[in-house]
Amino acid sequence: MREAELREWMARHGQSLHARGYAPGTSGNISARLDFGILITPTNSCLGRIDPGRISKVAPDGRVLAGDSPSKEAFLHLAMYAERPDAKAIVHLHSTHCVAVSCLCHENADDVLPPITAYYVMKIGKLPLIPYFAPGDRDLAEAVRAKAAKHHAVLLANHGPVVAGKSLDDAVYAIEELEETAKLFLLLHGRSTRFLDGAQIVDLEKRFPS
Ligand SMILES: [Zn+2]
Repeated sequence: MREAELREWMARHGQSLHARGYAPGTSGNISARLDFGILITPTNSCLGRIDPGRISKVAPDGRVLAGDSPSKEAFLHLAMYAERPDAKAIVHLHSTHCVAVSCLCHENADDVLPPITAYYVMKIGKLPLIPYFAPGDRDLAEAVRAKAAKHHAVLLANHGPVVAGKSLDDAVYAIEELEETAKLFLLLHGRSTRFLDGAQIVDLEKRFPS
């Protein structure tokens, strides 16, 4: 996709995510990889009202090349791109149900959501929890970097999810699947639940290799 088209689609996805309550206030950010650097939504901007022409362009080392000041969380995106050469886009949200799951105490921080549905297994798989750091803290970016080579989706404790995709659509649809799974997980809490078993997960991985 050409840069102008990417900018347009980032704004459209932002509007859609905001309209459906996935990105309240000025929370959340969307980025896309360019041949050199990335495009990322500006700091303190509402995803519902992104001006495609003002989206920030940032070099791989974090230097601002053009556009408005980038999101404070740009370093988190850059760390994930550096570890995942096939990632073409990243979406980060403060979506309610994922944030709720990120605040729970988890016995296994390597994978904090159970395999509730086939689509969750196919689009996300495993979801490690990254310890809490203040937004914009460079240590947060380093903690994400440590997990990013093996995981295209991570959950930041008391904060929200970060999901990389092979395209912008791919990243958006995967984070939506994750948010809905977090909602299901909370709805099912306290009920006797049948999750997918190990054999069913292996079967899905064979049928739909990522
Ligand atoms: Zn955030």
